[in-house]
Amino acid sequence: MTGPVSTQDLIAHAGYLASVLLFMFGIMRMGKVRTARSGNQMAAGAMVLAMISQFVEMGQIEPWFIIAGLVVGSLVGIIVSIKVGMTEMPEMVALFNGSGGIASALVALAAYAFHRIPTVPLMNAGMGEAPPSIVNGLAVMLSIVIGCVTFTGSLIAFGKLSGKVSGSPVLLPGRHMINAALLIMALGGSVMVVFTTGGMPGLGIVVAVTVVALILGVMLVIPIGGGDMPVVISLLNSYSGLAAAMAGFAINSQVLIVSGSLVGAAGLILTQIMCKAMNRSLANVLFGGFGAEDTSSGKGGGADEYKNVKAAEGEEVAMILEDVESLIVVPGYGMAVSQAQHLVRELGDIMEARGCKVSYAIHPVAGRMPGHMNVLLAEANVPYEQLFELDQINNDFKNTDAVLVIGANDVVNPDAVDKKDSPLYGMPVLNVWEARTCFVIKRSLSPGFAAVKNPLFEADNTYMVFGDGRKAVEDIINNLKSS
Ligand code: NDP
Repeated sequence: MTGPVSTQDLIAHAGYLASVLLFMFGIMRMGKVRTARSGNQMAAGAMVLAMISQFVEMGQIEPWFIIAGLVVGSLVGIIVSIKVGMTEMPEMVALFNGSGGIASALVALAAYAFHRIPTVPLMNAGMGEAPPSIVNGLAVMLSIVIGCVTFTGSLIAFGKLSGKVSGSPVLLPGRHMINAALLIMALGGSVMVVFTTGGMPGLGIVVAVTVVALILGVMLVIPIGGGDMPVVISLLNSYSGLAAAMAGFAINSQVLIVSGSLVGAAGLILTQIMCKAMNRSLANVLFGGFGAEDTSSGKGGGADEYKNVKAAEGEEVAMILEDVESLIVVPGYGMAVSQAQHLVRELGDIMEARGCKVSYAIHPVAGRMPGHMNVLLAEANVPYEQLFELDQINNDFKNTDAVLVIGANDVVNPDAVDKKDSPLYGMPVLNVWEARTCFVIKRSLSPGFAAVKNPLFEADNTYMVFGDGRKAVEDIINNLKSS
């Protein structure tokens, strides 16, 4: 910034600083279940503050456009958030990411189309008519490329999750070559635009780059199986942050640069956590090859592979539970499907009232999206202090009387620890088999997401409780109550 600083600029920049700090603290608070809700509210407040600061900096604005945008956007947000079910959350996040991506791309396209790269006096009052720089130009183009990839990629992810697009991987021959060619075209086109000198940079190239990036988004996500979409969504979340940060460079908006970078980094960290928890490399994710082999159709781990399986009814489970002093509940995808979380909490309450120590072990990828189990159990008012992450609780199983696995499978598979040729080998799992007695509630001996046999089901100390998660827990509760 050159020349004397106006009061208006000072207020605007103080607002930016405050909103950046609020974004940072908000994201930090989202790291813990207990503080996540207030973290989310803080980040939403930061967003409002950033918008107000932007208006202050811009000075003269056309209020009706802004008010109309705020009203329409808020209405859509409120209606959608009321209507969406907890199991549809990944779809909703996919749409959010897509909206973020296209918004950044549109900001960059507007900056390019209406003001040429990159002088955007309206949004850049403090900078005056600064001459175009290569940094601004590159940022405009990268924002368009990443934003468009995020947009169409997220739409495909949404379609796969909601069943509107087939969840099976679509494997085009030579897709890696096609994707590499599209990427080179998009980036090559971008560099051409930026280094075009004199007169108007070719609008045709910008349009071509936009179209190529939109196709690239589809091509990157379409080969990935529907079950792996949560990882893709977390990666696309990171992309949407990057696109926003680039848009920030394009229009010289510090608050956009910082908030976009925060989202980009947070999304990438989450992707890495998920990859680690699923024993997949990030490179594998980035090149879009993972999930290409559709394992969700149950190619292995059929009932015929098991011997000596012991089954127990609710009554027998209740009889054993009556005498235990410690119980660890391990929820999985089946608990989400059967919506058994409220009954699980009721069972926990009953056991606690009988003097039993009750804990819940949460595997990072239990379920079908990050934090899936935490959200469901929090919804059922399970006390936060009873929820433990894998690292916190894995050593406790050996000193525990009973474990109740409900609708979890891969995340409790002992082959991940000791069978080198298992597809799960190396994936961190919950060592439930170390407990004195282990109950596994599921409907059959069918495999889980990874489609592999689970030797836990035929272990000496395991009892299979066959049935729908909700009904099985209800049955155990009724027997405990009547004993
Ligand atoms: P799994 O998919 O391994 O197993 C879930 C089990 O739930 C199935 O074996 C199924 O058995 C049972 N089930 C389904 N419906 C019901 C029901 N109504 N009542 C009772 N049981 C039911 O789930 P996990 O949670 O153990 O593991 C998650 C898997 O998902 C991992 O492989 C992970 O890598 C993968 N994944 C997780 C992501 C995440 O972000 N959390 C993202 C992408 C993948 P049956 O049919 O016999 O009932």
